[in-house]
Amino acid sequence: MPDVDAVDTVGVAGAGTMGSGIAQVAAQHGYEVVVRDVDEALVEKGLAAVDEGLDRLVEKGDLAAGEADAARERVTGTTDLAELAPAGLVVEAVVEDVDVKRDVFADLDRVTGPDAVLATNTSTLSITTIAAATDRPGQVVGLHFMNPVPVMKGIEVVVGEKTDPEVVAFAHEFAEALGKETWEADDKPGFVTNRILMPWINEGIRAYDEGVATKADVDRGMKLGTNVPMGPLELADHIGLDVCLHASETLHEELGDRYRPAYLLKRKVEAGDLGKKTGLGFYEYE
Ligand code: NAD
Repeated sequence: MPDVDAVDTVGVAGAGTMGSGIAQVAAQHGYEVVVRDVDEALVEKGLAAVDEGLDRLVEKGDLAAGEADAARERVTGTTDLAELAPAGLVVEAVVEDVDVKRDVFADLDRVTGPDAVLATNTSTLSITTIAAATDRPGQVVGLHFMNPVPVMKGIEVVVGEKTDPEVVAFAHEFAEALGKETWEADDKPGFVTNRILMPWINEGIRAYDEGVATKADVDRGMKLGTNVPMGPLELADHIGLDVCLHASETLHEELGDRYRPAYLLKRKVEAGDLGKKTGLGFYEYE
């Protein structure tokens, strides 16, 4: 039975947007963290993002400077897979590609101790398929953090076909140890969040593209009319239009026509307008 209290070191595979956020939050909550990415520059970028995230909390008065420094010291970066060996839990946050994730899980299975839990942060891929790349599918679970990790309160715990109930309980307890709240989803495409969010975003894009309202009024309508903090077009820009298209395509493949990505979403991604991260999506950004 895996025990959250026995975990000292958390491994994070992938030092991108999500990996750096997960590393920061785990370090803030007292864990030693080892973050691994494929090259030095990416590791450094991830560590810099952790630094910036901690600085931001200090500036806002949400974290004492001493605590931020202590958290920083608990995080190390590496390109060497073997350095994940002491981790009682590894959270994988590499690119959303099932073959890459399966390779990473086969590697993690090889380098970590036999009791270690391996979690994936996948948004849409099957936990069961990823777990099948290991000899410990019972110890593989979905820990779907939300973006930005230090800000968002919720984590979706996703239960694969073979995930042991003790490992599911471990996932909830670990999330709570990070000060987060959880809900649980079965390993069905999109889980709860993206299954519902992606068609909402695509319908917002279609409503704009088909002339129901201006893009600003599609967003205003949903914000003022349904009390959500961001409308569908704004939120799509925030997530990244390529990420939305990729998730929509996975859901479309798995669940059929009602999940077809909006035409305008595809056109914008083809044009390289991916949202906030490229400065242009449905809106323009500085
Ligand atoms: P990202 O592109 O910012 O980061 C991915 C990182 O993984 C990159 O730094 C890349 O170099 C690294 N990587 C690739 N192969 C690797 C390997 N073999 N070993 C170690 N590192 C490797 O992506 P992201 O937005 O952080 O997304 C990561 C995961 O989190 C995806 O599965 C995504 O679906 C999921 N997710 C993303 C969001 C979001 O809003 N961005 C939200 C929830 C979940």
